[in-house]
Amino acid sequence: MQFKVLVQYSERLRRVNSRNEKIGVILDFLRRLKKGEAGIGVSYISGKIMQGKISITWKGLSELLLTPQHRGASPELMEVHDFLNEASTARGRAKIEVLAPLFSRLSKAKRRHLVSLIIGEVHQGAGEGLVKLAIDEFFKLSQDSLERAYLQKPDIAELFTFILEHGKTGLDNLGTRIFSPLKPMLAQIAESMDKVYEKYDDFALEHKLDGIRIQVHRKGDEVRIFSRHLKDITVHFPELVATAMELSVNEFILDGEAIGIDDKGRPVPFQVLARRTTRKKDIARMQKQVPVLPQFFDALYVDGNDLTGQTYTERGKVLGRIVRKKEYLAARTKPVSKSAAIAFYEQAIECGNEGVMVKVLDSPYRPGKRGNLWFKIKGSHTADCVVLAAEWGHGRRHGLLSNLHLGILDETKTKYLMVGKTFKGLTDKMLQWVTNNLPQYKVHEDKWTVYVKPEVVVEIAFNEVQKSPKYDSGVALRFARVKRIRNDKTAKDINTIMDLEKLSRIALTDIQ
Ligand code: AMP
Repeated sequence: MQFKVLVQYSERLRRVNSRNEKIGVILDFLRRLKKGEAGIGVSYISGKIMQGKISITWKGLSELLLTPQHRGASPELMEVHDFLNEASTARGRAKIEVLAPLFSRLSKAKRRHLVSLIIGEVHQGAGEGLVKLAIDEFFKLSQDSLERAYLQKPDIAELFTFILEHGKTGLDNLGTRIFSPLKPMLAQIAESMDKVYEKYDDFALEHKLDGIRIQVHRKGDEVRIFSRHLKDITVHFPELVATAMELSVNEFILDGEAIGIDDKGRPVPFQVLARRTTRKKDIARMQKQVPVLPQFFDALYVDGNDLTGQTYTERGKVLGRIVRKKEYLAARTKPVSKSAAIAFYEQAIECGNEGVMVKVLDSPYRPGKRGNLWFKIKGSHTADCVVLAAEWGHGRRHGLLSNLHLGILDETKTKYLMVGKTFKGLTDKMLQWVTNNLPQYKVHEDKWTVYVKPEVVVEIAFNEVQKSPKYDSGVALRFARVKRIRNDKTAKDINTIMDLEKLSRIALTDIQ
């Protein structure tokens, strides 16, 4: 298929309004794809390129949009894909040089479409969700087998090509396979136990361990260990290989966390444990310095049976049968009451863990998904921040300065970088104090916000540091709330971006 045909379909999608009509357009598009280009087509019609990102600057893209046009055949989808592939491995300016001949063969509208695809901003009122529905319709598969197929192959382009090549029966063999790592299931952050109870009551709690995610595969005498990013990290952990060999079943995939322990048996900080994965030499010495212990929390495959479609409760029973030593299992409980849940959380923190994980009892294992079946509740941290601005409040806080813009120091301790905003935790007394005192440091203001010199320091509690393109610091504090106003501290005494990076692990290895 020529690229221009794809653009025509995208325009058709933009023109029709109803969901069914859109699915119809996509279905028509899918039928026109040839075998070799099917994955690329599915990806492009859902508004994505197969390379994910190719990192071209805005300046570079604007330059490409202005490339002189030469007459020539409209490129095929496969050609576009090949050009993008080459660009994704080229560096800096070379990316633009690689793509210029492709752009020169496209008219203005097609160029704009290609740029939107590259930056992931195709606005056609249809994305992956509708393409998925069209694929369901295309193959006329039962809902059940498709759901299972999506669990194994969450990438719809890959799944579409797979079914085209292997037919419906191929889907039956698309199970979990030993030595082929699955993307680990992930958790969403929950603010507190109360918030979890507002939504669920049938869940288990586990300690949230601060270690390295491990997926341990064993078949007979062979053991392989994979990281969260599916890297083979077997060589680093001979003691985990030995543990896997100790287990009575000899074909399995278990999910868990490897934690480092000190001589009192308490978990060591992640930074210390991370040393185990940095060097391939000296493994024996590192093993003595930072011994690790597996803390298994899930069983994904056992003796030819894929367990990912089974419930958490069922998988837990299997796990208990395979791993008999309690010390190798992450502590778990099914709390009988909210106070029991809080007590378990406090015990987790007391033992030196990060917090707890909440897992819905009847949930399947969804590889690579951060859905609402697993939640993490982390213990809170605190940081001293400076107030950079405050917004006038609404409702109950009308006439009071409330939403505070929070800053921390940069690496050189000369500049303040924004890390979030909050009005949570501010008592009436604090609100009054802020409203009375902040304006004396005013630099400028607009209708909603008073911007101030960095003078007032506040102690902020938060649950997590998250990457964020929104702020110049590159990070944001999750669930930030004001604990107190620190009149005893100056803006030079506050925390730095490095302190936060330590907590977020952003600067650390990708092994975690
Ligand atoms: P986060 O890295 O904060 O998104 O939290 C998710 C990570 O917590 C997982 O990738 C695991 O490495 C880790 N983790 C620790 N304990 C558990 C547990 N009991 N269940 C699942 N994940 C856990």
